[in-house]
Amino acid sequence: MKPLNDVIAACPPSGIRRFFDIAAEMDDVISLGVGEPDFVTPWRIREAGIFALEHGYTTYTSNAGLPELRRLICEDLEKRYGARYAWDTECLITTGVSEGLDLALRVLLNPGDEVIVPEPCYVAYEPCVSFAGGTPVRVATRWEADFAIDPDAVEAAITPRTKAILIGSPANPTGAVQPRAALEGLVRLAERHDLYLISDEIYDRLTYDDTHVCLGAVPGARERTVVLGGFSKAQAMTGWRVGWICAPQAVAELCVRVHQYTMLCAPHVSQIAAVEALKEAEGDVREMVADYDRRRRVFVKGLREIGLECPEPGGAFYAFPSIRASGLDSETFAERLLHEESVAVVPGDVFGPSGEGHIRCSYATALPQLEEALVRIDRFLGSLR
Ligand code: PLP
Repeated sequence: MKPLNDVIAACPPSGIRRFFDIAAEMDDVISLGVGEPDFVTPWRIREAGIFALEHGYTTYTSNAGLPELRRLICEDLEKRYGARYAWDTECLITTGVSEGLDLALRVLLNPGDEVIVPEPCYVAYEPCVSFAGGTPVRVATRWEADFAIDPDAVEAAITPRTKAILIGSPANPTGAVQPRAALEGLVRLAERHDLYLISDEIYDRLTYDDTHVCLGAVPGARERTVVLGGFSKAQAMTGWRVGWICAPQAVAELCVRVHQYTMLCAPHVSQIAAVEALKEAEGDVREMVADYDRRRRVFVKGLREIGLECPEPGGAFYAFPSIRASGLDSETFAERLLHEESVAVVPGDVFGPSGEGHIRCSYATALPQLEEALVRIDRFLGSLR
């Protein structure tokens, strides 16, 4: 048989899945492994989806997505963050940020272009760059600096082949929220070296200490920035598969071009549900965010009390404590914690080499479970002494 695609065949499976597969076979596991809200989609949004089905909204929509939804997204971005995009030429609806990321990379990259990816980062960033024909170039961020991106370190990684910088803030897996100064520094770099910026803002509503900065609203950024957002996290809509891209017209147009041939449109019912989410579900979002914040405080405090240093996660729903004091590497720590205390976490190194010495714990889990997990992790640490 002829060989399959070299790039895809060379890409390892996600390091997160391996732990889920083991955990799925075990009883009484507390999983802090999933990057998914533990809430079901708020009822009013589900009801809008049911209404859409009942009334037969089962067709394709326009390729770019329902005009009403695009209008609402652009209005929301402007009202909340001061980022201005034209709904009809600079915004399209995607099947989640996952598709948005893929489209943005395919549209921006030519074969061999380099994309700088500060890490530790979301597991899909590097594979998606490679699938789009690009080469990911890692830049380390350090937990001692709260995983803030250092524009000087990014600049040192720039070569004549560099095309874009890909960032996520608030971040998976660290929960880090990039300070405005770091974002402004990246924009200056992008201007100086003529680079694009791809900004994954899927956790924009999940910030606890400050308000989110939309990269598209940072002076100088707009014309070279692709902003990705969606409904999976704050609106608890992972399974509906709906997200969006806002970008300068030339980029947005080409994104629609790929999307129209590969995806055609995002699911119609999900788009109608997303309209409801933006129009009516603000109260539900606020309640869920307040709940995550309560769990965040309890969990991070608990981790520190049992002796794990933990950078303050300002956003998303992840804590990324250091486990260096245990003397174990991340993989061994996670594997032994799962087998010995039935707590599933994700080893930090699956998100990039700078994640070594950390574990990712999702606190999108009920408080009693989080408290029990802390007891078990404490007991596990005790067994190592
Ligand atoms: N970006 C980040 C940082 C994520 O953590 C995730 C999901 O975990 C995604 C994108 C994928 O989002 P979506 O469900 O909108 O495809």
